[in-house]
Amino acid sequence: MRVYVSVDMEGCAGIVHREQTDPKGYDYEIARRLMADEANAAVAGAFDAGAEFVVVSDSHGGNGKRNLIPGDLDPRAQLINGVPRRLGQVDGIDDGYDALLLVGYHTRHGRSGVLSHTTNGQAVANLWVNGRVVGEIGLNALVAASFGVPTLLVTGDDMTVAEGAHDCPDAELVTVKWALGRYAARSLHPQVACDAIRAGARAALARVGRVRVAEPETPVRVRLQFKESGSAEAASRQLGCRLDDDDTIAFEAPSMAEAYQAYSAAVEGWLPAWGGWTKG
Ligand SMILES: [Zn+2]
Repeated sequence: MRVYVSVDMEGCAGIVHREQTDPKGYDYEIARRLMADEANAAVAGAFDAGAEFVVVSDSHGGNGKRNLIPGDLDPRAQLINGVPRRLGQVDGIDDGYDALLLVGYHTRHGRSGVLSHTTNGQAVANLWVNGRVVGEIGLNALVAASFGVPTLLVTGDDMTVAEGAHDCPDAELVTVKWALGRYAARSLHPQVACDAIRAGARAALARVGRVRVAEPETPVRVRLQFKESGSAEAASRQLGCRLDDDDTIAFEAPSMAEAYQAYSAAVEGWLPAWGGWTKG
């Protein structure tokens, strides 16, 4: 069994503020260790469940997806970090995995929940794929599903877990904190959170081979609403796609991977601006 663990930061226990998730912010050094501990908990659960290979994707944009200190990770796991990546937070998922585990995730833009946003909090208002509004959980789950990989674990605050239940019906759900607002939460102790994530990953992976993955319909229809109309204008010119509204572009892609890449190009500004675009 091969397991892909994608770890974001906003949904880890104890994290409630951008200062914690920003490399220049107060307490970032603590937050990145909380992130590593939760990643390791999922890795341990995967090996408990009989995994032969586990990869961890550093999926938090804060520092060009270079938040995890490599030596902090469980030595049995391999690490994917850095940007740009063809498939973003699940890059390499097309490399033959049996399950995707999403750890430390958050709600989509516009929803309640700690530090909610959709990939680039400065640019993106709403994203629809095949008519359904999605955030990072739904987007990654669709990319994984297009390669036949089920999303079997979602961890984060209670609102995130509710979004996960909606977008990933086969997933085990682990709540590590309860949102009291966008910048406040009641959290489990980190050790208790990690124990729950380890148990959750173990339970989730018992489902491998027993869940049916619904592959996204093709061509994949994407609508992307920006926070500003100027971003939509620029993206429509760059991609050669139509403006669906003053602040919204629409396009179709032959596959979910290509839909993701076009989305990413529209949102991140694409090359050569990559060095400065590290949201996620
Ligand atoms: Zn993040």
